[in-house]
Amino acid sequence: MTKDRALAPGARIGIIGGGQLGRMLALAAARLGLSCHIFSPGEGEPAFEVAAQFTIAPYDDEPALARFAASVDVITYEFENIPAATAEFLQKLKPVRPSPRVLALTQDRLVEKDFISKLGIGVAPYAQVDDAGALARAVGRIGRPSILKTRRFGYDGKGQTTIKEGADLAVAFRSLGNQPSILEGFVPFAMEVSVVAARGLDGEFLAWDVGENVHDNHILDTTTVPARMSPDLLRRAAEKAQKIAEALDYVGVLAVEMFLVGQTLVVNEIAPRVHNSGHWTLDGSVTSQFEQHIRAVCGFPLGSTRAHGPVVMRNLIGDDINDWRELLRQPGACLHLYGKSEARPGRKMGHVTFLKA
Ligand code: AMP
Repeated sequence: MTKDRALAPGARIGIIGGGQLGRMLALAAARLGLSCHIFSPGEGEPAFEVAAQFTIAPYDDEPALARFAASVDVITYEFENIPAATAEFLQKLKPVRPSPRVLALTQDRLVEKDFISKLGIGVAPYAQVDDAGALARAVGRIGRPSILKTRRFGYDGKGQTTIKEGADLAVAFRSLGNQPSILEGFVPFAMEVSVVAARGLDGEFLAWDVGENVHDNHILDTTTVPARMSPDLLRRAAEKAQKIAEALDYVGVLAVEMFLVGQTLVVNEIAPRVHNSGHWTLDGSVTSQFEQHIRAVCGFPLGSTRAHGPVVMRNLIGDDINDWRELLRQPGACLHLYGKSEARPGRKMGHVTFLKA
């Protein structure tokens, strides 16, 4: 069964989204004798210059989507905010992995939290907030500080605001555009970690070592691997990711972000794609997250996730990219630049992995 659905070298993979994740996926695919067709509404995307083919068209351009689907053997994505209708349209034409069901679930913070907690996995206390009145009731139940997040289209701290003592709730709700939201209790975490893992077409599950993440201004700054937690916590973190992947019948790489509070791991969110906290695997592991995702969606056997040793990955945000020459001189530093021409503040321009072994 699985064999029939598996592709072979020479196949073409369709990737929706043309950012740095698409670029690194296309590079990994090329190593396995595969080629990629990138579909993105944006001009001059980082993935275009390393892919065999690209299409620039809006997500609702059905003739362009149909031509894209006809040119590839399987479709995946590097960006989760694709309209559900786009994924469903494509699925009628070619296999979409991970499935559009996974996209729909992870696009909505409320649906995602309900799904995770129904699996018996801990999440921050949360409540649905559809208007300022519901926000007042939710704050009454959950308390302050708490975080108001839009249900959809939030990333890197966008679409969220902290509700502190004395904050005006109507103003807070309006500041997010009066959109359907959720209120989350503030988790006084000691550490943020993520499990990046893959599930193959045949159900095989493999996780990399847990990463310890430090954010600066809501943007990932560093990932240190392995996370400085007990072996028991490391094992429990991986088990939670496996439970989630299996419940979703997931195919591909996913990342599960968690908070460590005392000896408890609380899941924050699921990213249904390769993830910034897994970039260290390019230099620090036998198989990178990008190659693994390509293997999984093509139905190939998964590769070893063994780490070569302890590593630290640092993002190069905005002007950090100006250090490129200095970083190239450093022994043990592996530099990756995304080919973006303009270094705007907060923009991910590249990353560097320091191998400690
Ligand atoms: P998110 O957009 O949900 O990934 O949140 C971005 C960042 O905000 C997280 O990486 C945390 O640093 C912080 N954060 C989000 N939710 C909470 C929470 N419930 N309690 C404490 N910090 C949070």
